[in-house]
Amino acid sequence: MSIFFCRTLVLTLYLSLIQINLLAQTGEAMDSTIKKIVKSEEEWKLDLSEEEFYILREKGTERSFTGTYNKYKEAGNYVCAGCSSLLFSSEKKYDSGSGWPSFWEPAEETNITSESDSSLGRIRTEILCTHCGGHLGHVFNDGPDPTGLRYCINSGALHFQKEKSSDNIK
Ligand SMILES: [Zn+2]
Repeated sequence: MSIFFCRTLVLTLYLSLIQINLLAQTGEAMDSTIKKIVKSEEEWKLDLSEEEFYILREKGTERSFTGTYNKYKEAGNYVCAGCSSLLFSSEKKYDSGSGWPSFWEPAEETNITSESDSSLGRIRTEILCTHCGGHLGHVFNDGPDPTGLRYCINSGALHFQKEKSSDNIK
């Protein structure tokens, strides 16, 4: 009886160790899927246009109704101008009348990070690229169904990729 108990105990401990090991591995795998791009401001200056640098790295805002993608209606994907991560899709773009490209949902939620922004004397939610940390715009609660959200994004933070094949859609 006691030998049986000992065996059971050893087996339980062994299984627990395997489980802990698996959990640790999963955690590692999850971290490695989010690749962070780290560059100095000098490197960013070389890689980006003046406008892209102003928006992405200095949290600038382009003037309303001046951006390339405000009224843009081509079918395709909008990727980060800093690191080419997929951010938005033309399928979730709408004309909000704000003068900036507006989307009701990101194409890839994990590629978007939000942070509280208290500049301009009011609390807004800033939207950043998860991978390069570039400033994209803000998200507001006055969007259309089904999310009720309005992702108000600077054209200068985006590059457009025309839909050629299903390879483009992540
Ligand atoms: Zn990026």
